[in-house]
Amino acid sequence: MERSLIILKPDAVQRGLMGPIISRLEQRGLRFAGLKLMRVDEALARRHYAVHEGKPFFASLVEYITSGPVVVAAITGNNVIATIRNTVGATNPSQAAPGTIRGDYAVEIGRNLIHASDSPENGEKELALFFAPNELVELERSTDRWIYE
Ligand code: UDP
Ligand code: MG
Repeated sequence: MERSLIILKPDAVQRGLMGPIISRLEQRGLRFAGLKLMRVDEALARRHYAVHEGKPFFASLVEYITSGPVVVAAITGNNVIATIRNTVGATNPSQAAPGTIRGDYAVEIGRNLIHASDSPENGEKELALFFAPNELVELERSTDRWIYE
């Protein structure tokens, strides 16, 4: 079982796209274990994006993610990392396939609407940064059997 952190970035909230983006993940069949609206301060942004420190876009990335409220979510299940990344689309929206979230709703790499963890290891690390354990629900395995078997 894998766990992924999702962030609906400030442009998603400002553009009124929380519902449509969450709907796409939900309708695909992904299971949410945590969901909240919050602000990301600079310290948290720098930790979350530490792997990008030193890159030319790092400062603008930190500024972007701290520029307004975000929605963070935890999604759990088999193979969710790859499934979510495929649903999200390429980092640069101009190369993201139509039908993906970025391919349907975004045009600029610096305003690409959504973050999704890129490996199971990073999913665990990122979730620990954004959620306390008691903010994540235990999913009902009896009713969600199909996704866990
Ligand atoms: N980013 C950017 N310019 C770039 C590369 C990345 O502004 O040239 C931003 C973009 O918001 C991206 C984030 O930095 O989502 C993290 O980059 P990463 O390569 O991890 O892309 P992702 O995993 O979000 O697809
Ligand atoms: Mg990434």
